[in-house]
Amino acid sequence: MAYVSSTRPLLAAALALAFGAASAAVPAAPDVARHQAQIDKIVIEISPQRIEAYVRKLVSFKTRHTMSETESDTVGIGAARRWIKSEMERCGAGSRLQVAFDSHVAPVSARISRPTEIVNVVATLPGAQAASKDRIYVVSGHYDSRNTDVMDAKGDAPGANDDASGTAAVMEMACVMSRYDFDATLVFMAVAAEEQGLIGATHWAEQAVQKKLNIAGMFTNDIIGSSRADDGRIDDKQVRLFAESIPATKEMSEPVRTLIATGGENDSLPRQLARHVKEVGERYVPDFKVSVVYRRDRYLRGGDHMPFLARGFAALRFSEPNEDFAHQHQNVRTEGAMQYGDLPEFNDYNYIAKVARVNAAALASLSLAPAAPQQVEMRTDKLENNSSLMWKPNTEPDLAGYRIVWRETTAPQWEGSMYVGNVTEATVKLSKDNYFFGVQAVDKDGNTSVATYPTPKR
Ligand SMILES: [Zn+2]
Repeated sequence: MAYVSSTRPLLAAALALAFGAASAAVPAAPDVARHQAQIDKIVIEISPQRIEAYVRKLVSFKTRHTMSETESDTVGIGAARRWIKSEMERCGAGSRLQVAFDSHVAPVSARISRPTEIVNVVATLPGAQAASKDRIYVVSGHYDSRNTDVMDAKGDAPGANDDASGTAAVMEMACVMSRYDFDATLVFMAVAAEEQGLIGATHWAEQAVQKKLNIAGMFTNDIIGSSRADDGRIDDKQVRLFAESIPATKEMSEPVRTLIATGGENDSLPRQLARHVKEVGERYVPDFKVSVVYRRDRYLRGGDHMPFLARGFAALRFSEPNEDFAHQHQNVRTEGAMQYGDLPEFNDYNYIAKVARVNAAALASLSLAPAAPQQVEMRTDKLENNSSLMWKPNTEPDLAGYRIVWRETTAPQWEGSMYVGNVTEATVKLSKDNYFFGVQAVDKDGNTSVATYPTPKR
């Protein structure tokens, strides 16, 4: 791990102080950088061949437009969703995976010309630890497709990259991960009506709010299929991870105001989650970079993470590094030598598997780890050059203790850390004014939570 790697004299001297203070009283820290055998196995089991077979089957339904045919068993979105459900049931048979439709009727709107049944396929793997099973991580891809005219429900719309790639990745994760136990609950979702205005994801996210579900993290995988840019360059060594800072709302909420008041705009919930995904993803998938983009999404574009962000959940978007716009939202046709359309031959199935492995490693790590500490506060009631943090104790039975992490205010990833044991207050000999801090919960196996950014304790 790259922690405590800085060679800058100021930071190095400060770190020596911090560690010096800690070494006497604190029990040995769990090894937070080690590979968990279970996660290594999951990563190996993710199969590019199965992912390719899923994509080609999804393409075989001709169109998965949200208002397309639902009666046929071979064509249209109805056949597609019934196949996704039956395939996840088949693959998850004998495991605790529960597969269900989440259906509602959407009224007429900008991209829905008649009341239409919108159906998400939702596979839930319940958490195995009582103290953690109410904590939920969601991973999605959208199985609907479109061509040039977003209202054309009849023309072929193969959607091999947008977004059979993300759907296939989610199906493969459900299939592989259903064979393992995790403390927290995982939800694998094939979402409908993304192209018609994020309707399926909005419905599920709103239900989650109504049911007061604790959605601790959400990833959408949308356009993760191709490693080839429109100019022919191949880049199969990275994936973009879009992570919002603070929401663009008219009125600033009190938590956001407090975040900004301490310079914490790079410490929003999505940014903390992205930091964790980058660290874990790059640990388990060698030679592959998680390129965090400090944006909600691409310019004026969107995805199924947005309804989750809008409801205050930490949500992120995975997308390939260089999109080829001739191969998305385009009728299948040739113009001169140019082939247009979102066809399966333009996908790179080994690349999709790598992105699925990053997702799976991050989901496994998050759902094996304790919850991020709650009510983390930075003491500001006395003027001092140290940083004193306090937090509420976690409830997991396998909790080992807590770890304070920090970085310089201009650094993207955590740079230093100190394990402080099973306590609820600790002091680091670094100035809170010069570094950003976070507190992580660590279990006995070394699984580490996302960091929680402290609010000022007055
Ligand atoms: Zn899409």
